[in-house]
Amino acid sequence: MKTLDTIRQEFSPLTQDIIYFDSGASTLTPNSVVEAMDAYYTQYRSNIHRGIYAWSQQSTDKYELARLKVAQFIQANQVEEIIFTRGTTDSINMIAELLINTFQKGQNIIIPVTEHHSNMLPWRELAQRQELEIRYAGLRDEILDIEELMGHIDENTALVVIGHVSNVLGSIHPIQEIAHKAHSVGALCVVDGAQSVAHIPISVSELGVDAYAFSGHKVYGSTGVGVLWVKYELLQTLTPSRTGGDMVSYVTLDTVEYAPIPQRFEAGTPPIAEVIGLSKAIDWLQEIGWDTIQEHEKKLIDYMWGQISLRPWIHVLGGDKTMSRIGCFAFTIQGIHTHDIAHMLAQHNVCVRAGQHCASGIAETLDIVGSTRITFGLYNTVEEIDICMQALDSIYKTFN
Ligand code: PMP
Repeated sequence: MKTLDTIRQEFSPLTQDIIYFDSGASTLTPNSVVEAMDAYYTQYRSNIHRGIYAWSQQSTDKYELARLKVAQFIQANQVEEIIFTRGTTDSINMIAELLINTFQKGQNIIIPVTEHHSNMLPWRELAQRQELEIRYAGLRDEILDIEELMGHIDENTALVVIGHVSNVLGSIHPIQEIAHKAHSVGALCVVDGAQSVAHIPISVSELGVDAYAFSGHKVYGSTGVGVLWVKYELLQTLTPSRTGGDMVSYVTLDTVEYAPIPQRFEAGTPPIAEVIGLSKAIDWLQEIGWDTIQEHEKKLIDYMWGQISLRPWIHVLGGDKTMSRIGCFAFTIQGIHTHDIAHMLAQHNVCVRAGQHCASGIAETLDIVGSTRITFGLYNTVEEIDICMQALDSIYKTFN
């Protein structure tokens, strides 16, 4: 069984004197994932679905096995529901493109102000084109006001979009209830899972949503690959928005027959090595197991709260300790600019993110310039939290 020590040894960058508290932006990649991608490049590098030689067959097999792994990982009902993309942003843009003609003028779309720009701007663009009303759900006590969101849903609602977990507040949203309410008025529910997949077990079928998006690089895989899961019944009604090679069965100069689902939604050469890497990352996570993952994360979260409560000058956004959350703490310190905090932490070899975290609706609503964000990965330790806190103490002293 993997222990925390052995887990750390699997990440080459961690041999450096660095505390990496920015896994919310991108997790580090275990060596086994790098090796799987390397093996593709050094042993059987070839395109998929096309060649009838062994290398291409091997690439195709690994690629399609990855689809199966992803389907099992998020408990999809059918492997065909998995579409590989370039990342969450790409997945959400794609589902917005696919859905555009299903909406009509006068309908409304619900968007929480907490959304990452990736799950806000594609929908704003769509709303503008189809003349849909946008209804923003705001904050209460610095977290998403679920009651307000639910109250916005009515018979004219076409779509509710929501992040499973806020990338700033770390809050886990009640997706099942929201999807249920959306469906009760005939609306769809599309979920941004960028911040959830590495932290909580996902069952898209249990959540009861219509589409779910996430990125490989936030779940210990590489950059450049993502997943768009769409419920099969919905997928069957959609026409590909992107056309080109590999998504067709038959083409003449006058006619085209698209390939079966899901291939018809994957035009062009996909990120093959990255998909193979994602498959390995899922193996890696599953080897550790959700119990260990969640136990470790809870330990870090509890320790973090303990340290923060000793420092009343740290204000955690959405700082309700009882809230269901992942290891993501965005905070402000009065009188010190968020970028100064991050810059000074970097001088102590602590990597954090500062600013609005591509979710400017939160900063705008709270009327703050931004926040400094600490996010945990499986490799982080309480000792690292101690070092970070001592660094924050010295930063605070410098300004006071
Ligand atoms: N949504 C959320 C909640 C995110 O945290 C991120 C990454 N910061 C994205 C979407 C976009 O992911 P990507 O950049 O991998 O497309």
